[in-house]
Amino acid sequence: MSALTKPRSSGSSAPHSAGRRTAPRDPARPPGGTMGPMSANDTDASSASARPAIARARARGFHVLAKPTGAICNLDCQYCFFLSKEMLYPGSRFRMADDLLDAYIRQLIEAHDTPEVTVAWQGGEPTLMGLDFFRRAIDYQEQYRRPGTRIVNTVQTNGTLIDDEWAAFFRQHQFLVGISIDGPPALHDAYRVDKGGNPTFDRVWRGLQALRARGVEYNVLTTVHRANAGHPLDVYRFLRDEAGARFIQLIPIVERTDNGDEVSERSVGAEAWGRFLIAVFDEWVRRDVGSVFVQTFDAALASWYGAPPSLCIFAETCGEALALEHNGDLYSCDHFVEPAHLLGNIHNTPLIELVASEQQRAFGAAKRDTLPRYCRECDVRFACHGECPKNRFIATPDGEPGLNYLCAGYKAFFHHIDGPMRFMAGELRHGRAPANVMAEVARGDRELLDRLRASGRNDACPCGSGRKFKRCHGAA
Ligand code: SF4
Ligand code: SF4
Repeated sequence: MSALTKPRSSGSSAPHSAGRRTAPRDPARPPGGTMGPMSANDTDASSASARPAIARARARGFHVLAKPTGAICNLDCQYCFFLSKEMLYPGSRFRMADDLLDAYIRQLIEAHDTPEVTVAWQGGEPTLMGLDFFRRAIDYQEQYRRPGTRIVNTVQTNGTLIDDEWAAFFRQHQFLVGISIDGPPALHDAYRVDKGGNPTFDRVWRGLQALRARGVEYNVLTTVHRANAGHPLDVYRFLRDEAGARFIQLIPIVERTDNGDEVSERSVGAEAWGRFLIAVFDEWVRRDVGSVFVQTFDAALASWYGAPPSLCIFAETCGEALALEHNGDLYSCDHFVEPAHLLGNIHNTPLIELVASEQQRAFGAAKRDTLPRYCRECDVRFACHGECPKNRFIATPDGEPGLNYLCAGYKAFFHHIDGPMRFMAGELRHGRAPANVMAEVARGDRELLDRLRASGRNDACPCGSGRKFKRCHGAA
């Protein structure tokens, strides 16, 4: 379930570095299908107990972020968690070799019984591989594609290397391009700098304009951190009105320091994250439902509607969004590219076996099974599910470890959107457009205004804050 609030529900979504979407679903399609060399069905390692998991993974599909340059990037964004991953592969050239590219594309296609296969490229900075690498990737896709299978390429990039030649290639092969941009220049350049510490906005903007000139489908990924968290409407309106984004991903920056539950000064605070989401939501729900797609809101609507959310961070379990390193090592998730979460190398073990492995299933289930009691009893658990395990490093009010650092923000946000979400979910159930919520919210706004006008200074404020009118809306 995705793009509930969007007129078209192509199921396409931007690639991204965190909180990636859950794997595409095709529950109507039975497991089975052809497998080529290194087929999981043909190998001894494919034990009887593993077969149901393999069949399930093939039928449901899964998502792999392939990192052909590993963590290598031409920029030096100060909050980038990938840069430290270079240390995992000392001495490496950090370039995916051609035989691995061939093997990966073949195994990925063979491992899907779904009508659509997503090939997601990420980094580091994947465009550092050069266009020829991606041309070969397209050749391999054509070579291994089964008749009737649609292959969708997505690429997440900082945009700085994109010129007209790249844009023409993306357009020709219908890539969905995710551009990382953190808002207008001053906010973007706060942390997104190059290796010389220089601002990057102008280069990103040129890349974005090249994409627009060629009519490439693009999305924006915006990280929310200390520098831009206090400017939600400046950021959102810039993305919508200046960058022309119709699909927006908002990702909170949470950088842990070595001191346990402390975070870096660049990180967004939990309450600030909640306030940011609320401010953007309040603008969106009044004018942009159905025309601008904000992934966090769409995932929330899926939860209120009773469907699986389109984002792994809000799913009950995870484990269907893996990361492939430049040398063929496959990890459970791109936020857990570390030795303990290495599943194996696809040169040695078929991709599908690693995806369906006991280790990976345990990783996915741990998201649900390690929730603290505070979350299990939370009234918005159905929408939050404790968010991503990588952020679960604080203690609950009663001292239990494992609470999400962003909890306070999510609680405030999910409570705030309850009314409009109930309304939109109801519209969906009746086959009507969720965008009808805009008229409903406008009606509520008019009613509130009338009641505010009729309020006395010492009356309770009609907004429901619990404060006196003179200390709330009447204060101005
Ligand atoms: S750990 Fe799970 S929830 Fe977090 S990003 Fe990875 S797959 Fe998603
Ligand atoms: S809002 Fe907080 S308590 Fe509730 S599920 Fe999310 S992290 Fe847990």
